[in-house]
Amino acid sequence: MAKEELECSFCGRKKPETNLLIAGLDAHICDRCIEQAHGIVIEESKQSDSSDLSAELKLRKPQQIKAFLDEYIIGQSMTKKVMSVAVYNHYKRLLQPATKDDIEIQKSNIIMVGQTGTGKTLMAKTIAKMLNVPLAIVDATVLTEAGYVGEDVESILTRLLQAADYNLEKAEKGIVFIDEIDKIARKSDNPSITRDVSGEGVQQALLKLLEGTVVNVPPKGGRKHPDQKFIEVNTENILFIAGGAFDGIDRVISKRLNMQAVGYSASMSDEVVDQDHLLQYIIPKDLKDFGLIPEIIGRLPVLTYMNPLDADTLKAILTEPKNAIIKQYKKLFTMDEIDFNITDGALDFIVNKAIEYKLGARGLRSLCEEILTDAMFELPSSTEKKLNVTKVYAEDKLTKTTLKKLKAVS
Ligand code: ADP
Repeated sequence: MAKEELECSFCGRKKPETNLLIAGLDAHICDRCIEQAHGIVIEESKQSDSSDLSAELKLRKPQQIKAFLDEYIIGQSMTKKVMSVAVYNHYKRLLQPATKDDIEIQKSNIIMVGQTGTGKTLMAKTIAKMLNVPLAIVDATVLTEAGYVGEDVESILTRLLQAADYNLEKAEKGIVFIDEIDKIARKSDNPSITRDVSGEGVQQALLKLLEGTVVNVPPKGGRKHPDQKFIEVNTENILFIAGGAFDGIDRVISKRLNMQAVGYSASMSDEVVDQDHLLQYIIPKDLKDFGLIPEIIGRLPVLTYMNPLDADTLKAILTEPKNAIIKQYKKLFTMDEIDFNITDGALDFIVNKAIEYKLGARGLRSLCEEILTDAMFELPSSTEKKLNVTKVYAEDKLTKTTLKKLKAVS
């Protein structure tokens, strides 16, 4: 065939009419057809992505879910167990075929109570990663009732849509983590007659979402606007996980336990109450006494708690999880062919400083960063190919001023 007769085997355009004509074995394809075909491939893969979801979900049993969580999260075994069952049941509910009986499995939304930095967000993130579903993390403190300054409750779903790349089907099977749910508690236990913009009103607005409803969501966020096009999102299969520190709830628990002890003196006093870990005795009524409205508590039926992190846990967090901080530094140094090691004494030193300065698990990273910055700056251009971080080395790098600075930012 003469050169000028070449044409696209898909659309028939002659070579001069195309920008590019690529030759295959016995055929040619032009740039336009490539683009079109690419579009089809993307569309197709989006569709098969969503059907993957059910295949993936069928695979994991609660014990496997827990084993996955164990790879990333240290301790908190009670919560991991409770979460594994709740997540398993939630997705089982999602996959259930329409049955003839009237038994409808209800949602197992979860509420986690525990101090900040104990891994609540990490737990939600890890579950979303395992299931390969989109996750939106929202802060309850910015939410207000519609019409007030702040974000409407619907903004939660805008975030989820964004996390799902606007794939509605994926978003509707996603997870929403609502942080600081305790901050929208009613300030006093008496239902108030006056309007409580940031507290009870928001709880009321959240109710519908948690239960399952179709919401008109502004895709780009912001206030609802008459001209804006909405996306209808059904929240029925979205798993909501709420978390909060609930500062002072141990007093509520302790009071209740003491009252019970008076009521049933014989039986209760026999049981030793672990005063240092009161959260393990938490029941839904304590949340109500703290200021959550009963309807919200009812829609977050799985209640669990996170233990505070002690020295051993903090040390394990530094070294054990799959993407532990120390493993990350090791990898960074290895890329420069530097053999990086850290002694047990240095690890204990970092942990003790995190506790002493109340930096928690979040502070571990900043402490390591302060200790290792000089080495990360100098070693890549030096001939030294070994770094051994001892307690003395760490002490030397971590001056009082840096510690004060870290405390100020935490
Ligand atoms: P919370 O949401 O409870 O305030 P986060 O989940 O944000 O706490 O935890 C802060 C950081 O601390 C996480 O990024 C994680 O690196 C670390 N962390 C906290 N608890 C654990 C844990 N139990 N196991 C592993 N890492 C943890």
